[in-house]
Amino acid sequence: MIPRRPTRKVFVGDEKHGIVPIGGDAPVSIQTMTAGYTWEIDKCVAEIHKLAAAGAHMVRVAVPEKKDTAALQEIIPQVTVPIIADVHFHFQRALEAIDAGIHKIRLNPGNISDKAQVIDVIQACKARRLPIRIGVNEGSIVERRDKQRRLKELGGVFSDNKHGHLLAIMVTKLEEYLEIFHEQDFHDIVISAKSIDPTLVIDAYKEISRRFDYPLHLGVTHAGPKETGTIRSVVPLGHLLCSGIGDTVRISYASDPIYEVQDGLEMLYVLGLRPRIGAELIACPTCGRIQVDLFKLVQDVRKKLAEEITLPIKVAVMGCVVNGPGECEGADIAIFAGDRRGIIYVQGEKVANVPEEQIMDRLLAECRNFQQRVQRGEAKLGEKVVDVVPPDPIGELGSGWEKIQKEKGRSLPVVN
Ligand code: SF4
Repeated sequence: MIPRRPTRKVFVGDEKHGIVPIGGDAPVSIQTMTAGYTWEIDKCVAEIHKLAAAGAHMVRVAVPEKKDTAALQEIIPQVTVPIIADVHFHFQRALEAIDAGIHKIRLNPGNISDKAQVIDVIQACKARRLPIRIGVNEGSIVERRDKQRRLKELGGVFSDNKHGHLLAIMVTKLEEYLEIFHEQDFHDIVISAKSIDPTLVIDAYKEISRRFDYPLHLGVTHAGPKETGTIRSVVPLGHLLCSGIGDTVRISYASDPIYEVQDGLEMLYVLGLRPRIGAELIACPTCGRIQVDLFKLVQDVRKKLAEEITLPIKVAVMGCVVNGPGECEGADIAIFAGDRRGIIYVQGEKVANVPEEQIMDRLLAECRNFQQRVQRGEAKLGEKVVDVVPPDPIGELGSGWEKIQKEKGRSLPVVN
């Protein structure tokens, strides 16, 4: 388990929507944001349901207009996860959202900086025990536009850092803003400091975590479409999480936000920061030995596992038995493909050898059956792992071991 940086803890939600703790000893949580208009009530509710079903612990909505905060009164009673209002420019939207029953407010110091207005929001949140996220975005900090002047003013503050002035502006802005909160004795705070530059994200969060003990909301802003945004997001966020920094995460894609939830959760699962819900899929990348349509099979299996399996069963889909057994070590259920066929193993025991067109259905049936056995207490996850030693199954699959052996000049492994 990765040791986490100690922080204060805040709570988001209520009895009806569930209470999500952020910071302290709470597990890292995943949040996302709806992509549609909040005032389109039915669509907004449907989108929140979809994101919650995908595993989002909290969902944020934009409230740029009064009709958006008015819609919250109808949306909040219909959903089952805590809702956060994303407030920019108009502090009144925060007050309206609080009246509508919102569970958390996000304020941007870059565009709501009037002290009296900020105090109004703080007092309203204090009265309802609602947390506030102070979200400093590199892109929306006004001073950013006057780089040279700021660079001179702040010269040397972070001179050993290539982001120098930007980091200094973000931290200074945050400190100034926090002073208002501290004057009001308000500490139910979460901090974020996002940028599109992954290396600035790493430096900013490390600096902030050194200075403050508030929980941190990690994110790379405007990371782009999922196809390229995944790397841009997961590299810095994974790095920070591995350093024990970060208490809640939002991945930001220019794609369906469901991917933000799926990828955020997967990141936490692989880092061991949350217990996995649903099956874990391992699959080989394929190579010149492949004799089935493995890419399609893997995608079909992935979709079906997500729909049907709720336990963290480890499933391996391997193109052959040459390297497959070693690569899928620890799998509860595995399929090794061969010459248009597949052998299926369940906890180390061979249960089927089926033609390619039957692999998918049989594998799923075995997964469902295994899940039921675990639920009845007749089997245990990870108890007996796949332990296949070629060439025994190769003979059955006809995957051309002799040919492979000749090409590679390797000798056959020992058969147990
Ligand atoms: S499991 Fe077999 S087909 Fe898949 S990459 Fe490894 S050697 Fe190639």
